[in-house]
Amino acid sequence: MRIGFGYDSHVFEDGKPLVLGGVLIPDCAGLKAHSDGDVLIHAIIDALFGAAALGDIGSHFPDTDEKWRGADSGELLRAAVYEVRGAGYAIENVDATVICERPKLRPFVDLMRSTLAGFMGVGIGRVAVKGKTNEKMDDVGAGKGIVVHAVALLRESKAE
Ligand code: MG
Repeated sequence: MRIGFGYDSHVFEDGKPLVLGGVLIPDCAGLKAHSDGDVLIHAIIDALFGAAALGDIGSHFPDTDEKWRGADSGELLRAAVYEVRGAGYAIENVDATVICERPKLRPFVDLMRSTLAGFMGVGIGRVAVKGKTNEKMDDVGAGKGIVVHAVALLRESKAE
């Protein structure tokens, strides 16, 4: 078994759609980023790469590379999982906590879980997403952006 941890944060930027866990969230500003700004997927990718000791999201998909401008993070997650599997690991489970004052995430959590599970090719029972506020503390609590913490557990897999 191998455990990995991922973290990401992005600030809100008006005029962009908000995509979290591959799900379009209505009526909320998007996130400033070179890619689509899917902060939840970015944290999960870093947890997966971390568990496999394969570097990080920036080393695989550099934000200096025009190739990744506006990139669909779901496709980055698919690519990351492909690399992790290629290194001989299968995903046991992924667990993420999304911290923001808005939007309220509960109505979207199960759709995020199923969308993420689809990108990773695992059952929805292996994917957890929890939404929290920061109790109005600090910049996240002031509504400036979204922070995500994620962990991933991998198992060595001869078959994949
Ligand atoms: Mg990011």
